[in-house]
Amino acid sequence: MQLQQTPVLEDTLWEAVLNRNSAFEGKLFYGVRSTGIYCRPICPSRRPNRNQVRFFQSAQEAEIAGFRPCKRCQPQSEIVSNAAKAKVLAACRYIEAQIDHIPTLLELCSHVRMSPSYLQRIFKQIIGVSPFQYADALRSQRLKQRLQEGEEIAHALYDTGYGSSSQLYEKAPKQLGMTPKTYQQAGKAINIVYAIAPCPLGYLLVATTEKGICAVKLGDKANKLEHILNQEFHQAQIMRDDHTHKEWIQAILNLIAGDETHLDLPLDVRGTAFQKQVWQALQKIPYSETRTYTDIARDIAKPLAVRAVGNACGANPTALIVPCHRVLRNDGSLGGYRWGIERKQKLLIQELKRTARDLKITDQNNSFPVPSPQSPLPNPFSKDDSNT
Ligand SMILES: [Zn+2]
Repeated sequence: MQLQQTPVLEDTLWEAVLNRNSAFEGKLFYGVRSTGIYCRPICPSRRPNRNQVRFFQSAQEAEIAGFRPCKRCQPQSEIVSNAAKAKVLAACRYIEAQIDHIPTLLELCSHVRMSPSYLQRIFKQIIGVSPFQYADALRSQRLKQRLQEGEEIAHALYDTGYGSSSQLYEKAPKQLGMTPKTYQQAGKAINIVYAIAPCPLGYLLVATTEKGICAVKLGDKANKLEHILNQEFHQAQIMRDDHTHKEWIQAILNLIAGDETHLDLPLDVRGTAFQKQVWQALQKIPYSETRTYTDIARDIAKPLAVRAVGNACGANPTALIVPCHRVLRNDGSLGGYRWGIERKQKLLIQELKRTARDLKITDQNNSFPVPSPQSPLPNPFSKDDSNT
């Protein structure tokens, strides 16, 4: 209910607003008609014209009357006493001190002597996340640090409160952005040499370690490719040398141009066991043929993992050598491609052209598709790239 705005009462309320009187905290709110915003009396914002003001006893009333809460004084949020704020901070310190486990809400409550629902609510209001989210973020931060310091995975996970290795492998990838093992490896000092060459698909970047090719990327801009490489191997020693491994680059360029149909180059890729399994299956797809994500899932004896296969294709670090461009969606449409759907289409058409040439099919009108029972030409109009 709106306050009965007798002139005398209104004068008192207006005075409280003018004076930013904290004694009215929680009991008085005022809305400004011209802006549609309502505030607490203590709001630091400029005072409005009195004739624009409406008074309310609660935030809820102001909202029912159509006013939106002010972003500065946040009149919709609960007023938290200093004592309660101190308890929230004590809860944070308690969480930080529990290195080997995430405290339960009840454990926290008995430590700071506060009811679970109230602690949960004001913790979120003050800190911005729930106590669990706070503890969880802290845990993964600790884990990252220990893995980067080169600690054994088993020790790092126990010491940071993950409990068991299976739990770590289920939960950690989301937070680390990759599996713990990969994360640890990204921290090891490796030397990478890369070269960039222009090609019919834009630019080609090929990066190598001492053991083999660790990345093949395609893009419109050389510097963007360099940037991606630097991010992926953030702690490696990376150096550009366009003259190194010239024969490998030439082999890949030949494949793009259709002068070569087979690539047999040494790889040094990092990935989970599942990803590597998918990448190996992709390498078995013959030139100019295609498979679906479902086919690959079946090939690796995990017929239900179609979506995960799509993700593994998208994470393929060595484009072209691992020919993820030869995988289509079940309906024959292109699916996705990390380096752009148009490049995928061009590559497939190039492969079909080359095969047609080999089969001495003369194409007077230069009009593809070439019909092939095993590999229907992808639908060039499909823009859907949700699969990878
Ligand atoms: Zn305000």
